[in-house]
Amino acid sequence: MARVIAVTNQKGGVGKTTTCVNLAASLSATKRRVLLVDMDPQGNATMGSGVDKNALALSGYDVLTKRQSTADVIVFAEASGYDILPANGDLTAAEVELMNEIGREHRLRLQLNSVRDRYDYILVDCPPSLNLLTVNALSAADSVLIPMQCEYYALEGLAALMNTVEQIQETVNPELALEGILRTMYDPRNSLTLDVSAQLNEYFGDKVYKAVIPRNVRLAEAPSYGVPALKYDRASKGAIAYLALAGEMVRRNGQQRQAQPVAV
Ligand code: ADP
Ligand code: MG
Repeated sequence: MARVIAVTNQKGGVGKTTTCVNLAASLSATKRRVLLVDMDPQGNATMGSGVDKNALALSGYDVLTKRQSTADVIVFAEASGYDILPANGDLTAAEVELMNEIGREHRLRLQLNSVRDRYDYILVDCPPSLNLLTVNALSAADSVLIPMQCEYYALEGLAALMNTVEQIQETVNPELALEGILRTMYDPRNSLTLDVSAQLNEYFGDKVYKAVIPRNVRLAEAPSYGVPALKYDRASKGAIAYLALAGEMVRRNGQQRQAQPVAV
């Protein structure tokens, strides 16, 4: 049964989409079955995976509005090596249509149920705001992965985000856990980065991934070729960092599973 992970941060430009695409590629390189769900109407994860958002016959819109079964909308992103539930601007229309529906917060969860046993990991790329699409992602998720830049206001933003997670736990998804905090565009030569990093470790302990993602131009260039960095320059620092993240994530989840009591 897939672990569903929402990659979220209400701030834009922190590396959510870059993390989704490159982590999906890295997990599938380690032989995990991966589905990437694009829940951002900007469709950046779709384009970055090599699927043209302007040429979609079916998309996340059809899934959220129950016009199509999820399996019929998922496509294999051949250049990237994983499955994707693609999206474009039509998601905004789906959000509007959902507004008047009963159970509107749970539509994505409901629609992913039919495909959950086909994957090991389902990653959900969220838009940079707390709208109904994000709430759907958080309702469907087992956990949240938070990419963040170690800059001055980052901790304030993180406090707001943890507050949101708590609200979601109290309302639509009591089981929602914190998967981990990922430091992106990391520059160890910057003393502020190191300060913020130290505070993160103090508050969140081992929830902070040891793997850090450096600022790396290959990660920024790869989307224009519609592939993850691993397929564009596999020796790049960016590609290697995301492979390390995937390894850490898989190890952690393995340990958690082992640590669970065995039912008798
Ligand atoms: P978000 O989805 O949170 O808005 P993106 O993943 O789209 O953020 O990243 C914002 C911009 O920063 C993009 O242009 C992306 O290519 C670039 N970027 C993201 N991570 C890195 C990185 N580690 N090094 C260099 N550029 C990056
Ligand atoms: Mg994005």
